[in-house]
Amino acid sequence: MEPRATVILPGRAVEPDVSPYPVRVFRPDGFAERLSGVSLDDLAARGMRGIIVDLDNTLVGYGQDHMASDDASWIASALERGFRVCLVSNNFPERVLRVARELGVPAIPNALKPLPGSFARALKLLETPRNRTVVVGDQLFTDVLGAKFLGLHAILTEPIVAKDWLGTRILRFFERIFLGKRTP
Ligand SMILES: [Mg+2]
Repeated sequence: MEPRATVILPGRAVEPDVSPYPVRVFRPDGFAERLSGVSLDDLAARGMRGIIVDLDNTLVGYGQDHMASDDASWIASALERGFRVCLVSNNFPERVLRVARELGVPAIPNALKPLPGSFARALKLLETPRNRTVVVGDQLFTDVLGAKFLGLHAILTEPIVAKDWLGTRILRFFERIFLGKRTP
């Protein structure tokens, strides 16, 4: 597959999305192949200050234990540049908090995304307003939908590995119907 170094698409998120609400909540503001492919310059240019990152298959491959070094350095650069970063994951605390400790960022496990409670808590931790906070994650029905319920920006990434939890594999089927190709 042709690698997509894409990021947030220039000129896209600044145009007000006038599509009806039910369509809008399924529409990411940008796509990226990997977390580390999201341009921090673009995020800064769009006024983003807070970054909420999903764990499984966004930061760590499903069933894997460790982050890729470029994703870990992406988080480190984001923190260095003054972005506030928080992990929000539907996975269990043990796994989520271990990665968060490695990165030195706060985390919310057992998040029940796309329900808005955990993203609302993340906003409090980050102390960033909704319109200056972006969610980066690999799933339309948890990460993007949850972000859009609260009016946050959302970037959809490709899953790190094709393997997924059974429940996620079912959601992927519907993702393909909603998104077609995972491109704008
Ligand atoms: Mg995920």
